[in-house]
Amino acid sequence: MSGMGKIPVAVLGATGSVGQRMVALLERHPWFRLGSVTASDRSAERAYGEAARWVLPTPMPEEAAGMEVRATGPALEEAVLFSALDASVAGSIETDYASRGHCVVSNARNHRMDPQVPLLVPEVNPDHLDLVAGQSFGGGAIITNPNCSTIGLALALAPLHDAFGVERIHVVTLQAISGAGIPGVSSLQIIDNVVPFIPGEEERIETEPLKILGQLEDGGITPASITVSAQCNRVPVVDGHTLCVSVTLGREASAEAILGAWESFRGEPTALGLPSAPPRPIVYVDEPDHPQPRIHRDLGNGMSAAVGRLRPCPLLGWKFVTTSHNTVRGAAGGALLCAELAVARRAVVGLRDFDGHAGAAPAN
Ligand code: NAP
Repeated sequence: MSGMGKIPVAVLGATGSVGQRMVALLERHPWFRLGSVTASDRSAERAYGEAARWVLPTPMPEEAAGMEVRATGPALEEAVLFSALDASVAGSIETDYASRGHCVVSNARNHRMDPQVPLLVPEVNPDHLDLVAGQSFGGGAIITNPNCSTIGLALALAPLHDAFGVERIHVVTLQAISGAGIPGVSSLQIIDNVVPFIPGEEERIETEPLKILGQLEDGGITPASITVSAQCNRVPVVDGHTLCVSVTLGREASAEAILGAWESFRGEPTALGLPSAPPRPIVYVDEPDHPQPRIHRDLGNGMSAAVGRLRPCPLLGWKFVTTSHNTVRGAAGGALLCAELAVARRAVVGLRDFDGHAGAAPAN
């Protein structure tokens, strides 16, 4: 890092499943410094170490443990606000902070499909960050991170869409319990069980990829013409969502060509050497019974999607399986990568003062 000093950031909803990941990933972040943590009135004015029911295997960062949890809504000083707020409250709070000049990078669903808001998977649609220039939130900006299953799906599909065109997708998800937040699903619901319903999830997976794989033109996104059918299940896995995907491609493709598209996929964050970018966003795993969440969710520090079991599908053409970490790649780590890209691309006016971080930024 240059001598500019780290960019001060806050985590909104810092006590939850995603908020805790954000706090953990920020502990040694080379560009960002955690200045504030916020949560509901239930947690406000308590020490973070008491208010957060820590669920991660790594110890709570000492500095965060001693911070006082602030209420969400009143003024904050930090330039970047990472939102891990419950969706029941995130929408208006995020708009309000953006209108006060903050750059809000959100994991919540509320603003994802807003035409002026990028729904960003930095390796897949970095150019969608240009939408920020046309936003009307006042002095600030809102950038969103897709749904945790959608991110893994979009990563696996992007190289195929670029090379062959994707026309139809059928996806069955096996989603981890950390995706349901804290306290999440009860043990009586999930032990020895599979729950074949996650409210709103199938609709999100059937719409978000079209925006992500869409084209930026005339200051808006033209959605990709892809039909997606999703079936979502909660399974007794702690972290890591697994997706069984069947796909129809627009052009004929051999297995070698598909594997080649995945193997060669890198994307702008890796090229720029952004701090949270994995060396390889997609890692193809060859064993016949891979990928598996326990084995593969931490690939690339939790930022790579493992893909495997490519084989012909008698219904749609090709099928495969992908696994990615839902609270790292699918939430906190993904949000960090979005913010890093926004800094590197100088996409947000209020962050351009932090030029020193954008040493590797492209010319535009
Ligand atoms: P969670 O564990 O339930 O945490 C929710 C957070 O929001 C907590 O910090 C909570 O604070 C805070 N909150 C709740 N009501 C509030 C209010 N009225 N005012 C201010 N803060 C309030 O949920 P999560 O799983 O971390 O998810 C957070 C967001 O990310 C959600 O929008 C979710 O849909 C999205 N998301 C989650 C995942 C995942 O894998 N978990 C992945 C992608 C996206 P208290 O502790 O004080 O109640």
